[in-house]
Amino acid sequence: MVDVDAHHGNGTQAVFYDRADVFYGSVHVDPGAGWFPHYLGFADERGTGTGAGHNRNVPLAPGSGDIAWLDGLADVCAEVAAFGPGAVIVSLGVDAAADDPESPLRVSHDGYWRTGALIRELGVPVVAVHEGGYHLATLGGLTVAALAGLTGARRPQ
Ligand SMILES: [Zn+2]
Repeated sequence: MVDVDAHHGNGTQAVFYDRADVFYGSVHVDPGAGWFPHYLGFADERGTGTGAGHNRNVPLAPGSGDIAWLDGLADVCAEVAAFGPGAVIVSLGVDAAADDPESPLRVSHDGYWRTGALIRELGVPVVAVHEGGYHLATLGGLTVAALAGLTGARRPQ
């Protein structure tokens, strides 16, 4: 699973934390900086038991934009690729966008297209589950950008 919602997927991580058959990776705003979910989502959470090594969190400082976001996602995708999944489920929140009022991250429209493209490069079937966003005026365009990246379409204008 690749979680690109701005907030760490604490519930999803908890479901798979001790499992060897699912890898969970997330890039998100640092929960230690006062953001949801506050108590999970830290970099040292790597899974437990047979799931040890199958969890990867990349918390980002408030104010982080495309460069830090895409670098973090590339790290997650590298570990997902090493895991060798048969498919990827994407937790596709678009609330890391610069205009979103519910996170301090600054991902651009282009950044969302590149987000999708990085995941597409894993070369396995993808199911994207839309987890929303909070800036309604840009939500649709950000979603189209991410889906365009995921499907190999050109970057929308
Ligand atoms: Zn969120």
